[in-house]
Amino acid sequence: MKSPYECPVCGYDALLEPPADYNVCPCCGTEFGYHDLVHSWSELRANWLAKGANWFSSYTHPPYGWNPMRQIQALVGLEVLRVTKTDSSVTELRAEKTTVAA
Ligand SMILES: [Zn+2]
Repeated sequence: MKSPYECPVCGYDALLEPPADYNVCPCCGTEFGYHDLVHSWSELRANWLAKGANWFSSYTHPPYGWNPMRQIQALVGLEVLRVTKTDSSVTELRAEKTTVAA
């Protein structure tokens, strides 16, 4: 079953816990309620990307075929979608993401 929680920093969409209450994203390592008190999600995202967008957790392994750039594109694309509401490439990304997850 697919997790309902998505990391607002890196776009990892299989969080086991909501992005709050000191839960840590296994992908980007953001500790919610701690790191995001000091920095905005977009700042944390920029930091993660600047450090090479590496997988954070040594306990949770990345999904098969994990691609941080595609993950970020899907996340940022959805943000763009909320603002502009018209971008066919966003729809394509979303469709691609669904195919990968299935
Ligand atoms: Zn994350």
